[in-house]
Amino acid sequence: MASDKSGKNIEAGDTSRRILVVDDEKDIGEFIADVAEMMNFSCTTTSNAADFMAVLNPKVTLIIMDLMMPDMDGIEILRLLKARDCKSKIVLISGVDKRVLETAEELAESLGLSVVGHLQKPFRQVDLEKILTASRIVDPSGGAEAAQPISKQSAITITVDELEHALLHNEFVIYYQPQVELATGVMVGVESLVRWQHPKQGLLVPDVFIPITESLGMIDQLFWIVAKKALSEIGQIAKKNGITVTVSLNVSPYSLHNLKFPDTLLKLAEECGVQPSNIIVEITESGLFKELSKALDILTRLRMKQVKLSIDDFGTGFAMMQQLRNVPATELKIDKSFIQDMLVQDSARVMVLKIMEMAHELGIKVVAEGVENTNQLEFLRANHCDLIQGYFFSRPLPLPALLDWFKNFHGS
Ligand code: C2E
Ligand code: CA
Ligand code: CA
Repeated sequence: MASDKSGKNIEAGDTSRRILVVDDEKDIGEFIADVAEMMNFSCTTTSNAADFMAVLNPKVTLIIMDLMMPDMDGIEILRLLKARDCKSKIVLISGVDKRVLETAEELAESLGLSVVGHLQKPFRQVDLEKILTASRIVDPSGGAEAAQPISKQSAITITVDELEHALLHNEFVIYYQPQVELATGVMVGVESLVRWQHPKQGLLVPDVFIPITESLGMIDQLFWIVAKKALSEIGQIAKKNGITVTVSLNVSPYSLHNLKFPDTLLKLAEECGVQPSNIIVEITESGLFKELSKALDILTRLRMKQVKLSIDDFGTGFAMMQQLRNVPATELKIDKSFIQDMLVQDSARVMVLKIMEMAHELGIKVVAEGVENTNQLEFLRANHCDLIQGYFFSRPLPLPALLDWFKNFHGS
């Protein structure tokens, strides 16, 4: 579990210098947080790789990470950071000999990551202070431009109390983004994308609150709020409007550790009048890391009950092939970064083509995410992509607007 030294006030989007620490020795994390806060940094500590990856977001300006941890070694984490196109500066720490640290530093640099120093355990306060000061000098602007703003909402601050209140009083709304089958031009599915109707801040996008909800251990609660609302709304439009579509639900890694997940989902589907075969559970690679056997147990049981499985953001994780072998997936969603580059960058185009070819040979459907224009659409059509999701057809919409869009799109 991630903890924030500032206590109850977790800042979702301050643009000041934000440090994220991962070290399985909690004392070290606390020590770093104390020193960092004395130097006016805001600091979050985590004690394992899964929590770290869950909390990591583009607003983190400095990562301080242990190379040796029981659940995942630092080299694997470096590769994941690369896959996420991490722009944060990195400090490596380790108890092993200095040469290992230096090699790791070289590797990180070869991956295009920005390492600003290393600390050899046991280190002194003064060593840490030097590194923190240096990280400021490397980035004299104070880090504002190093931390890519996620959206215009990057300066929003939310508190734990507000989040608890929101979960209790259900301040969340579901937006739906249509998925169109290329061969028929029919809307065959929707992805549910949560927004928080914050009483003071207005409508918040998920990138602002999902990482914090995960780090506070509240994501399971949020998942069930979203699932309940989405399934009941999709059940309703089938009944009232005669529109039957699949509904995709985003599942956080943290929800894949409760073995009751399949049964609870199936029960909910039945209550809402949605066929299990019309539910698609979307998982990302990081969803499998923490407790692989439990996650696979849950995913296999979901498949046995006809629920479909989609691998989201495909192409961005470093173990994607292994994931394809492990997970009984029915669909994979090519990450929008590839779709947006495929007409201008050879490597992105080759990836898209090869992913589609491989998926089809395995009997897996392919969704192209982030399709924004006709050229992209026509390229995907010519290469037999199955489903299209993107602003070209529609942005995510609240249910009434989705129904209007549907009427116009299908001319009825
Ligand atoms: P995602 O699952 O990859 O969802 C797709 C994101 O891409 C959505 O952002 C969508 O609005 C955006 N998008 C779709 N088409 C286009 C396009 O053509 N161009 C561009 N530039 N963007 C496009 P959104 O709604 O802000 O959601 C962001 C992320 O938040 C999602 O990424 C997902 O990881 C997470 N998320 C959303 N809802 C939930 C939820 O209920 N639970 C969990 N755990 N995560 C969620
Ligand atoms: Ca998704
Ligand atoms: Ca995605």
